[in-house]
Amino acid sequence: MTSSTAIFEQLPPLREVIARHGLSASKALGQNFLLDGQLLDRIARVPGDLAGQRVYEVGPGPGGLTRALIGRGAEVIAVERDRRCLPALAEVASASAGRLRVIQGDALDIDDAAEAGTGAHIVSNLPYNVGTALLVRWLSGEAWPPWWASLTLMFQQEVAERIVARPDTSAYGRLAVLAQWRSEPRLAMKVHRSAFVPPPKVMSAVVHIVPTSAPAGVSPRTLERLTAAAFGQRRKMLRRSLQALGGAPAALDRLGIEGERRAETLSVHEFVAIAREMDARHSPAADAELG
Ligand code: SAM
Repeated sequence: MTSSTAIFEQLPPLREVIARHGLSASKALGQNFLLDGQLLDRIARVPGDLAGQRVYEVGPGPGGLTRALIGRGAEVIAVERDRRCLPALAEVASASAGRLRVIQGDALDIDDAAEAGTGAHIVSNLPYNVGTALLVRWLSGEAWPPWWASLTLMFQQEVAERIVARPDTSAYGRLAVLAQWRSEPRLAMKVHRSAFVPPPKVMSAVVHIVPTSAPAGVSPRTLERLTAAAFGQRRKMLRRSLQALGGAPAALDRLGIEGERRAETLSVHEFVAIAREMDARHSPAADAELG
């Protein structure tokens, strides 16, 4: 396996690459680059052993994280929207003996599962403006386990905290339930704003998410409708906030969950149980039974 140091030695320093290719950071594209090889290597270690593994990277930019991933033995499929980065990435590709394929485009429009293939790890220092949308997409699929093996993603720290949040905290909400009902997220490392060029206004953190088994009898769409209604009015009692959601108040009664409680006091397990009850009562089989 080529060590990450070897790749870094062959290629010019990232600062020089950025200057030579005129990669002045674009705010609109969420460009905050990481240049410290040691830090990039620590991020690339988060998903575990990458030797011989495929990695899907969104937004390689000048290629710092890409170099570190290839250095860990990965084969990288990277999607970059900014054409200005392509020549710099071509240099990484030629130094890596075919272990980097770059797709120019918007990650929101790419069929990532088809490009990266089942079993790929997703690793990205995400552009902040599309980060949450991509995370929600990766966590919302009907099919489970998903096509990806793990997610290693840099977010603004506030978003990272919402992903791993526990009940009875202000950070707990739809994102926590979505990220925890059939996967296990952890906050892998915090990254100081000064590590980025240019530094963003806020601190960042890397979250690592691995899929677990999905609870039976629950559709992601029902759970999503339920959490949207519950947290849409998080100060209200559940009986009120779920009033308009077919089957939900009855599900609370059947499960013995008090309607006076507020959304943020419910565990992920309780949300799953309510969604399961709603689905059971609305399935064609149940309709036939009731009918
Ligand atoms: N990976 C590099 C690093 O760690 O230094 C750059 C990370 S920077 C935070 C985000 C990158 O995503 C930029 O290179 C930006 O051009 C790219 N980007 C922004 N929006 C994108 C999109 N919709 N699809 C693909 N790439 C995008």
